[in-house]
Amino acid sequence: MLTDYHVHLRPDDDDTPPERYFTPANAERYREAAEERGIAELGVAEHIHRFTQSLEVWQHPWWRKWARDDVDDYCAFVREETDLRLGIEADFVAGREGRLASFLEAREWDFVVGSVHFVRDAAVDLEGPEWEHVWGRGDSADRIWQRYFETLAEAARSGLYDVMAHPDLVKVWGNARAWPERDPRRYYEPAVEAMLDVGVAMEVSTAGLRKPVGELYPSRPLLEMAVDAGLPIALSSDAHLPEQLGYRYEAAVATLQQVGVKEICVFERRTRRMEPLG
Ligand SMILES: [Zn+2]
Ligand SMILES: [Zn+2]
Repeated sequence: MLTDYHVHLRPDDDDTPPERYFTPANAERYREAAEERGIAELGVAEHIHRFTQSLEVWQHPWWRKWARDDVDDYCAFVREETDLRLGIEADFVAGREGRLASFLEAREWDFVVGSVHFVRDAAVDLEGPEWEHVWGRGDSADRIWQRYFETLAEAARSGLYDVMAHPDLVKVWGNARAWPERDPRRYYEPAVEAMLDVGVAMEVSTAGLRKPVGELYPSRPLLEMAVDAGLPIALSSDAHLPEQLGYRYEAAVATLQQVGVKEICVFERRTRRMEPLG
């Protein structure tokens, strides 16, 4: 079994209205690309900030910039007009767990992907003049990584999620930013422990291979730590185009086999089961 769940039906660009992308024809393009690549389990997980209802959760300027579409129209489209699993990528927003829980509980997802794109109000991977950025405050890389992984742990412990996405997203910029001086495993540990306590899966994402860092999320040491701890592993590409579905899965599957992963997560109505990898 191969899966791709953390998938977006459109690019993160302006002028990507739902009437153009939330269509049976577009879903079919994704389904065809998945079939070509042997991906049997296909889901979609649109960004929460694309929906107007997300502003009931948080009012960050970057969310206000994007929130235009109706989340219930999206859910109805996926359920009624496609054969895709229904998910959402719901950023963790510290202090807004109750509002996020209300948003998520009001809809019947197959899976909820949790991501940390913000450490408090500061963006991790979104540059822009209108909002604060984690790298813009003069903190050391060690401090930034520590706070990022503490937030990932907090996100996992919220119990809101089925999968923690791109778990070491903080490395996205690669050598364009400083790397921590200390062994990053000290930062990974609390996050892995939180995920284990709650029983949430860790995503292995090939999206990192398309980003400046040029490697899988998570790094090999973080993946090994997760596997040693017995965390369930979910496989996705974070595609924003049909061509990105299953992107470089050969590399991901080879890495997973090297670290001893034999099964990956399959989700349906927020219930997880394990299926053989490959
Ligand atoms: Zn993300
Ligand atoms: Zn995503």
